[in-house]
Amino acid sequence: FSAVRQVRRPQGEPRREDFEFVTEPLTGPGDGQVLVENIYLSVDPYMRELMDSGDWAKGAGLEGRALGRVIESKAAALPIGTIVFHRHGWCTHAVLGEADVRVVTPVDGVPLSAFLGVLGGTGLTAYVGLTRVARLQPGEDLFVSAAAGAVGSAAGQIARLLHAGRVIGSAGSAAKVEHLTTRLGFDAAFDHRDGPIRASLAKAAPEGIDVYFDNVGGDHLAAAIDVLRQHGRIAWCGAVAQYNNLDDPPAAPHNLFVIVGKAIRLEGFLVRDHGDAREEFERFLVPHVRSGRITVDETVADGFPTIVDAFLGMLRGENIGRTLVRVTPE
Ligand code: NDP
Repeated sequence: FSAVRQVRRPQGEPRREDFEFVTEPLTGPGDGQVLVENIYLSVDPYMRELMDSGDWAKGAGLEGRALGRVIESKAAALPIGTIVFHRHGWCTHAVLGEADVRVVTPVDGVPLSAFLGVLGGTGLTAYVGLTRVARLQPGEDLFVSAAAGAVGSAAGQIARLLHAGRVIGSAGSAAKVEHLTTRLGFDAAFDHRDGPIRASLAKAAPEGIDVYFDNVGGDHLAAAIDVLRQHGRIAWCGAVAQYNNLDDPPAAPHNLFVIVGKAIRLEGFLVRDHGDAREEFERFLVPHVRSGRITVDETVADGFPTIVDAFLGMLRGENIGRTLVRVTPE
């Protein structure tokens, strides 16, 4: 089977030379294990954060979210053909124990790949960030950054279903901005490369915002703090603008103290602490995905050899929605 190994710590923006493809013999499963053939691999910004830890140097493989099919089984609960989710990505096949996988039951009318995106951890992140962290109320105005990306496009669309007031997004190109307002139902959007973010946000939200769903950090966070209303909330989901930053830790927003005067609540969160929301989330969202009310945005690269370029392209913003690699046909 083929896998990708990290061979050095990226200095800032990762490069192809930081990775190598390896081929190893395929071993069969032991008792209680299955051999999984991967169908889709997801390449996500959080993997960039993991690349700064030293685990790869100790021989640990690269973590990555994946959907695969059981092709050999010595685990009674996981017969051949079962579709599973696991985190042993960046490889074509994996030998996994029962505890390493979660069974995915395909739903009629829903593409399988959606279970790595809007119906997987991506959508769940958006859902818990809005409902549990920001506690978005009907009629409240929301700003989402990296809004054409996987979590951001889910957050904007879910906010609509939760009866948000104005939904405003930022993204990194004119085409993405148009996609947000014409396809995903955003009320306003701007290109964060077009000028100072503070000015673009103030123009898009002249009366302010109640909630900021932050995927980006840095200047976006500072701008949102300025534009948030009294008692506003920030659900801090990620800081993709800072993952390639060599300063450790990256500088905090210059206007952090404004949070006190406006009585803003800023709360970071991790989706892995909210697994108990999964059932409620799926009950809420699956009907909307089936009906087409939610657009399943994804950028799919074909074939395992594309994985490194797909990852680098996603960090540069070349994706719309979830970035996936199709390893083998469904
Ligand atoms: P995306 O699909 O949003 O891909 C990353 C996007 O980030 C790119 O498309 C690019 O879009 C944008 N981006 C890259 N660099 C910059 C920059 N310097 N400034 C502004 N935007 C930039 O990835 P995900 O949806 O998977 O992740 C989005 C965020 O959510 C990340 O911060 C991630 O770490 C976080 N996350 C957090 C979780 C949690 O549990 N808290 C779980 C999952 C994700 P553009 O063209 O618009 O610049």
